[in-house]
Amino acid sequence: MHKDIATPVRTKEILEKYGFSFKKSLGQNFLIDTNVLNRIVDHAEVGENTGVIEVGPGIGALTEQLAKRAKKVVAFEIDQRLLPILKETLEPYPNTKVIHQDVLKADVKEVIQTELADCEEIMVVANLPYYVTTPIIMKLLEDQLPLKGIVVMLQKEVADRMSAAPSSKDYGSLTIAVQYFTEAKTVMNVPRTVFVPQPNVDSAIIKLMRRSEPAVNIVSEDFFFSIVKASFAQRRKTLLNNLVHFLTEGKEKKHLIEQALLSADIDGRRRGESLSIEEFARLSDELYAHFK
Ligand code: SAM
Repeated sequence: MHKDIATPVRTKEILEKYGFSFKKSLGQNFLIDTNVLNRIVDHAEVGENTGVIEVGPGIGALTEQLAKRAKKVVAFEIDQRLLPILKETLEPYPNTKVIHQDVLKADVKEVIQTELADCEEIMVVANLPYYVTTPIIMKLLEDQLPLKGIVVMLQKEVADRMSAAPSSKDYGSLTIAVQYFTEAKTVMNVPRTVFVPQPNVDSAIIKLMRRSEPAVNIVSEDFFFSIVKASFAQRRKTLLNNLVHFLTEGKEKKHLIEQALLSADIDGRRRGESLSIEEFARLSDELYAHFK
């Protein structure tokens, strides 16, 4: 019986056997602490009917712990050098499958339909490559996948932004984008010492549970997100000034923005960061009537 992959000794053995050198450009920081891995799996509430999509299995540390509890784990790995390693380390787990592909280019919906059709629920669980955390999460949310939720390790700073409340320094367009689709909660901070090599940022585990309906009903999603982005464009400017800058050439339509703010019952002298997602929704719908 092998030791778990995520022990410092076994990880070292595997890396040495294959002469593996880490690629910083691929965000390769591997976990060497089974307690932390088990906490991730616990938070994801993975059970015998769960199908799991993993992004970036590395040498299989998290994949192994997931495979012990899930029905099936499908993992996307971009680095070809890891494929022979994973073949060996995951050999005892027939309920795992590795797909050699950049997850950002993958048709994840198709993979869920073909590989995880017999699972009752689908979770994404991963220790994400930090250089592409936000694009990966936004792709998973925007692709309208049949996910129950996403539980991932990422930079603490990004987790704080995703789970922020209005009027806090971390609240911004990323917060609204994530909370539009999910209920977001940072569930655990993680020290650098549980990775090899150690990353130069602090980490956290975030839990994003998909809402059955988006947080707010809006006429146009694209327009809503462009208004949110514009409202945070210059954080020290007032909401009105940011909107004027974004929506009008010159100031001739300023009165229409003021009218929309009035109808939405929002003071244009406020800063974007003080608006709740419901207020952004009201404002976006009022503005849409004039600026679609
Ligand atoms: N899951 C392993 C662990 O916890 O020890 C490794 C996590 S490591 C932070 C990130 C992994 O993602 C690496 O194996 C890296 O090669 C892989 N990766 C990086 N970019 C990727 C992408 N765009 N698509 C799929 N995998 C990627």
